[in-house]
This record gives sequence, structure tokens and C-alpha cells, in this order.
Amino acid sequence: MNLRSITVLTVCLAAGLNAQTSAMTGYSRERARDERQIEQRFRAIPTANEEKRQHRFFTAEPHPAGSERNHELALYIADLWKQQGLEDVRIHRYDVLTSLPRSIVVEMVAPSAYRASLREDAYAADPDTNNPAIRGGWLSMSASGEVTAEVVYAHSGNPADYDLLRRHGISVKGKIVLVRYSNPYSYRGFKALTAQREGAAGLLIYSDPAEDGYKRGKVFPDGPWGPESHIQRGAITYDFLVPGDPLTPGWASVDGARRIPVEQAVSVPKIMAVAMSWHDAKPLLEHLDGPIAPASWQGGLPLQYRLGGNNVRVHLKVDMDTRPMPNYVVEGRIRGSELPEEWILLGNHRDGWEFGAVDPSSGTASMVELTRALGQMKAQGFQPKRTLIVASWDGEEVGLTGSTEWGEEFAEELKKKLVAYLNVDWSVSGPNFHPSAVGSLAPLLVELSRGIPAPSGKSLYDEWRKSAAAARVEAKDPRPVSDDNLVETHIGSGSDFTVFLNYLCRPTMELEFDGPYGVYHSAYDNFFWMNHFGDPGYRYHTLMSQVWGTLALRLADAEILPFDFGAYGRDISAFASVLAGKPQARGRIDFQPVQKEIAEFRSAGSDLTGAAMRALAKGPLDARLAERVNRNIMQVESNWANPNGIPGRPWFKHALYAARYTYGHLELPGLTEAIEKRDFIEAKRQAEILAGALARNAALLRETRAMLP
Ligand SMILES: [Zn+2]
Repeated sequence: MNLRSITVLTVCLAAGLNAQTSAMTGYSRERARDERQIEQRFRAIPTANEEKRQHRFFTAEPHPAGSERNHELALYIADLWKQQGLEDVRIHRYDVLTSLPRSIVVEMVAPSAYRASLREDAYAADPDTNNPAIRGGWLSMSASGEVTAEVVYAHSGNPADYDLLRRHGISVKGKIVLVRYSNPYSYRGFKALTAQREGAAGLLIYSDPAEDGYKRGKVFPDGPWGPESHIQRGAITYDFLVPGDPLTPGWASVDGARRIPVEQAVSVPKIMAVAMSWHDAKPLLEHLDGPIAPASWQGGLPLQYRLGGNNVRVHLKVDMDTRPMPNYVVEGRIRGSELPEEWILLGNHRDGWEFGAVDPSSGTASMVELTRALGQMKAQGFQPKRTLIVASWDGEEVGLTGSTEWGEEFAEELKKKLVAYLNVDWSVSGPNFHPSAVGSLAPLLVELSRGIPAPSGKSLYDEWRKSAAAARVEAKDPRPVSDDNLVETHIGSGSDFTVFLNYLCRPTMELEFDGPYGVYHSAYDNFFWMNHFGDPGYRYHTLMSQVWGTLALRLADAEILPFDFGAYGRDISAFASVLAGKPQARGRIDFQPVQKEIAEFRSAGSDLTGAAMRALAKGPLDARLAERVNRNIMQVESNWANPNGIPGRPWFKHALYAARYTYGHLELPGLTEAIEKRDFIEAKRQAEILAGALARNAALLRETRAMLP
């Protein structure tokens, strides 16, 4: 594949940290000088002390969606933003289906008695672990009910696992299925749907030490991995079918909105499910009889994992409080001076399982420190050219709910005005930069990372390349790290960008620093963990505020929006090549027409990038011309929208991006799923839709190129 060659034009020429002479994509030399100063002033404001102070506040108490504490935090953020000088600060309320646990019982009744505590141990080293407000093990959106039945070990709970059980003559119908979180990873909601389809009566999901516990390294409070009693809470909502409030699929759950009966809500599970620690799963696993599980199913506990199905019986009782509860989305903005009707949106969810120190409060701290810096600059007279909007989402953990309702409420405006959405779910679980973005935004991030210093004293770019290279060695990924593949452009789902990308078809990016993190969604994801393992010193929190804000400013002030459609075309071509290479596709689908349109789009994209650079090299662009050019650039992402959505999931409109039910990334979703189902009539239709969108966009880019001198 010849995937290189284009970004050479667009990536700024070799630049060190202080390379004042390097090109800035989307800017003339004059404006680039000003912009560099603005960004440097901005980056000088965030401090590690403030990041830590805010982080302590957000992590002081458990704050899941629907809790009073999470409402208090919404009020706190609204007040803070007003004090910081943000404009139009508002709180939006959405009454959305939410579930909190009333009581949950998991007890083995045969062959011996054991009642699962479903609690996490307290440690003297960390007083937060003693907080009486910590809830036990539960899964949001579980059905309520009661059953006593035999237990079957079903490995990761993916469809292939049940096939293996069937080959051993084991049915899970009416039984309770015990599964691990990941091996390989799949979203817990997919495990629930799979168990429900298999006719199971209940699902227990536990964290095996092979995945996030002592088999990986030292455990809490001595290390970053999950201890014996840690529980990964979470939701099992089928939000891969349609996210947001299950009772208002595809429209906003504002006051007076139509709501469907819960029985008709496709995203509400019909199976009972509970999250457990390995401490509570071990007695069940120890007693299971039946065939020995295959080697790949053996976990990290010192016992022989067996398939079970006969002798271990469990009494499972789940009582959930499930009803519409308020979610609160906080919104604030800094109005643009020249183009107030073009928006750059920054968002982070606020709700967390228990203290949520990494997920999401690290991101919340980075966000309010970013807004403090912007507010301070505004007080000194600075105004961005375009409008910056910041949002604190709610209910992300339940079903991407707050962002989805807000996106649905303001859909028509967002489709016209939203230049890009920049998501930070958690900002830090370690030092390794791991951003993802639509292909057209990836080069911007690479360019910008060269000019931002990282804690090591090197540039963010240098640290990023180093950690990316190490990650590839670990993952046995043979691709050498290059500027063309540093940013993850296989996006998937699982956070608040989903409504903006998949429903509204707006460009999105997600930023994150990662590291060893075995306490995800447990009570140990707390302030102590962050200060000892995740980010002692809060340097990466600070760096996140700096990167996130710099990106927002760079987009807000650009003369020509710095999207790179040549790079996008290169990615799309790679997506199509991977698909064409699948055994199901070979000889059945002609990829020639699609690849021809991709090549057209790609070359039109790089022509536009080259023309924009040449035009800006001559000096600032006429404002009216720039506005027309930018209108067209903003239209490109909208043109990927298929109004009917992808087959079976009409809410997901984007022709290039979606997510699998497992949350795994999924490119060219309509075409890919049709080919995987061997529905070649549908595949042909999907290929035509894709080719049509590509042709429209190639023509649009050519037309835009022609506007430039
Ligand atoms: Zn999160």
C-alpha cells in the first residue's frame, strides 16, 4: 500500500520547542506569530497545585449519575465557571432512566454455603476506603428479580465462548453464568446481551487477577493494580444499539418529551447482572465441577477453572431502583469575536463510579483548570475568534446519557455550527499520551505536540513517540511508529464523543494519558491512587489542560480550518483495504469503485491543503473568502451522514465510523457488517452509499480548492 507521501506537505517542517519559524497549518505567518504568543500565555497559567486542589474536591465523595452529590458538583462547576468569567453558564436538566441498587444478594447454596460480601476492603493507608457512602458491587441497568440456579463458567461471555460450552453439551438456559471482564475485552453490556440471548437467568461478572490484579503487578495500596476485593462497577445498557435515555431514543428527554414504555426500550437489558471481585468469585470457581476449561480460559487464580453446570447453585437476588432521575449538564462559553456562530466544543463527564479519581475526575480537574486559564486571559482582554463552549456531562457511565440528550436537543444548531468536539473522559491514568481522532484532525495534533513541553523536559511529541513505540512492542504490532499513525484513527465508542461523531457527524477528537490502571470503576480509583501511582505531582493533569486548551485555541483562531483531508483519505483507503482482505469479501464485492472514489477524495484533499498553504504563505486571507472556504471544510464531515443510519442501528449515521456491540472500533460500518453477515445485496448498497459520499466530498474539496488564489 502506498499510504504515505501526503502529510509531508502539511506537517510543519522540523520543529523544536521554540521553532518560531515553523509553519502553522491554517495560519499565515503574521497570524501564526500572534497565535503562538496567545497559546504560550495560555499554557503558562495552569498549575499542578490547582489541578490537585480541584481533583481533591471532585474525588471527596462517591458521585454516580443520579446521586445528590453529582448534582452538587454540577452546581459547583456552574458557580466556578461564573467566577472564572465564562459567559452564558447554564444547567440543563434531563430526566432520564437511571438505576441505583437497593439490595443485591449473591449466595452459594450448594455444595457449600458462601455469601458474597460484594464489598471492598478498607485500608488504613487510605482513609477514603473507609467512606460509608461507598456502594457494593452492582451493575447499572441490571434487571431486578430473584432466582436460584446452577452456575456455568463462560470465560469472557462472548458468543464463541457459548459455542465452546455447547460443544461440551453444556447449555446455560435458566442458569447463572459466571464470566470474567476481559480476555479478550468486551463491553460488559455486550456480555449481558449475549447471556440474555443464550437464555441465562443471571450474569455474574468478576475481575480475574490475570487481567487487572496481582498477575499484572503490585496491587493497591502498594501498587496500581486491583486488590483481591476490588469490584469493577459499570452499566450494562445496550447503548451500542442507541445511546442516551432509553425512553427517548433519538430525541431529547426535555420537559414534556414523549417517552416510550420501558418494555419497548431496546437499550434496557432484560437480564439480572452483578459485578464481583475475585475474592467473591473464587469460592464459586473452586467448587465448580464438570470438564476442565481450555487453557485459554484458565485465569490467574491458583485453581483449575472448570466449566461447571451441575453442582454449584447460587441464589441471586437483585433489587434495583430504576426510574427517570435528573441528569445535569453544565454548559459555559467564551463567545468568539469574529465568528461567534462557529463553535469549538470541549467536554468531560462528571459522574463516576464511587470516587472516580481517574474516571472521570482527572478530566474534570483538567477541564476546570483549563477554563480558569481561559477566564484569566479573557479578563486581560483576550477573545478567541470562534466561540469556545465547555460542557460537564452527566450519566456518561450509564449510557453516554447527558451528552446524547444535549446533542439531540441542539442537533440542528450543532450540525451547522460545530467545528469540532474535543472530548476528555479521564485525563490521566499514567504518562502515555493516547489520543484518538477522525483522520482529518490527526495531523493537527501531531503538529501541535511538537511545540508543547512535557514533564521530561522534552516535547510532548518526543514523549509520545517513545511511549507509542514501547506500546507497539508490547502489543507485537509490527508497524513502526510514524507521524502518519501516531494518532489512533480507529475510534470506536465508549465515551461522550459518540453523539457528536455518530449521530451529528461532526469531527471529534479524544485525549488521554494512560498507564498501568487496575482499579477502573472500583472504590480504589481514588485520590490516594492518583497521588501514589497515576500522577503524583499532577504534572500530566496540567499537561492535559495545556494540550486540550491549545488545541481549542488553535481551532478557534485558525484562518483556514486545519483539517487534512489527504490524511483522512489515506486512512479511509486503509480501512477499505483491510475490509477487502477479509475472506468473506474476497471475490464477492468489487472494491474498485470505492477505492477509485477514495483516491479522488484523497487527492482533492491534498490539493486543497497545498493550495491553502500557498495562499496563506502570501499573507492573511480575505475574511469573507476564508469564511466561505471554512463553510465547505465544515461540510465535509456532514457529508458522511447517511440519513437512514447503518442497517439495524438507525441512530448511527456516520458512514465511516461506528462501534461494534463489544465497543470494539468499527470502520465503514454499514459495508463491514453487511459483508460479515454475507449479505452481499446489502453490501453492494452500502458500497454505493459510501462511494456517493466520497464523490460528493471530492467535488466539494475541488470546488473549495478553486476558490483559493
Ligand atoms: Zn469515563
